[in-house]
Amino acid sequence: MDELGYTDKDRAIKPAIENDVQEIVKIANANGISFLTPNGGHGAGIGYADISGMVINLSKFYTFSIDVNRNELTVGAGVLIGDLIQPLYDAGLAGPHGNEAFVGMIGATLSGGIGVGRGVLDLGVDSLKFVRLVTAAENMVTASSTSQSELFWAVRGAGANFGIILSATFELQNQINEGNIVQGSSIFAGADNSSVFELYKSFDEDLPDELAITLGLSYNQTREASEIQLTYYYFGPQSEAQPYLDAVQVSNPLTGSISVLTTPQLYQRLENWECTTAYGDEGPAAWWLAANLPKIRLSKALWDPKHLFRVTNPIPDWL
Ligand SMILES: Cc1cc2nc3c(=O)[nH]c(=O)nc-3n(C[C@H](O)[C@H](O)[C@H](O)COP(=O)(O)OP(=O)(O)OC[C@H]3O[C@@H](n4cnc5c(N)ncnc54)[C@H](O)[C@@H]3O)c2cc1C
Repeated sequence: MDELGYTDKDRAIKPAIENDVQEIVKIANANGISFLTPNGGHGAGIGYADISGMVINLSKFYTFSIDVNRNELTVGAGVLIGDLIQPLYDAGLAGPHGNEAFVGMIGATLSGGIGVGRGVLDLGVDSLKFVRLVTAAENMVTASSTSQSELFWAVRGAGANFGIILSATFELQNQINEGNIVQGSSIFAGADNSSVFELYKSFDEDLPDELAITLGLSYNQTREASEIQLTYYYFGPQSEAQPYLDAVQVSNPLTGSISVLTTPQLYQRLENWECTTAYGDEGPAAWWLAANLPKIRLSKALWDPKHLFRVTNPIPDWL
């Protein structure tokens, strides 16, 4: 503890330029200090309350660019999902990102990058073209499917374990249905759960790419009863969505609404409540698939031999 009462657990640093990051990693490496590199602060990793190491806050790397000719988006480490929605919409393009505005774009991508548009827009990791990163071994590296491809493979899923990603470049698509999405929301009495769950289950095998469905359970204090909320998101024209929207009627919804929203309007509605987390505390075999673990261990030995990225989501020694 120092004279101001701070312990090592309280250390945080905010690099402003890329060289700063390399210097910080060099010092961490020389002194065996582990670190965490947050941006959006929405990490689902267990143990944020008990960080022992250095926090390298990346929020100053706030730059992004949209290349309309190449259909590419390049984001810096400080960019949040919410920063991108309107600029992408204005450019007539769409990209793979999560639902919640305050989540880091790169942070979300590292754990999948899942959103309601996943069926048509893909996962964030699958649209990633290349990343520029400072590895724990102090190298500044560009990784893609053709350069440092093993590292690129590891980053696309177990990403928070290999390097500090300073920028990431994604493939974009043209907007679907001119950027308009149909949202249908129905509330059912909790007592009708079996027919609602049957309806939900009926999509197990053949959910159309354009459609995403979320299901929420809540307690209505006014009605003093449980409720089920089923929300449909259709990335296409309402005429195509209508049969799916009509199908909910068989379960006798208490209320229902249908809206056609622009992309920014949709994500404004999703802000603060639609959370699609990629993983919890199930463990490495569940997060990354048991068959992938040996390959991940080799990449870890190469790129982070001292396990400096061990604060959250660590790849354990025994892996
Ligand atoms: C309310 C909420 C809503 C969510 N919604 C979605 C969603 O719709 N879709 C989805 O896919 N996920 C979603 N998630 C999960 C989220 O994507 C992950 O928890 C993600 O790790 C958060 O990233 P962050 O940058 O906001 O968090 P942080 O806590 O800042 O970072 C999380 C982890 O990523 C690492 N990291 C972040 N940036 C970098 C970088 N540039 N280089 C290296 N490592 C980095 C950090 O070190 C840390 O280990 C949600 C989570 C919450 C809490």
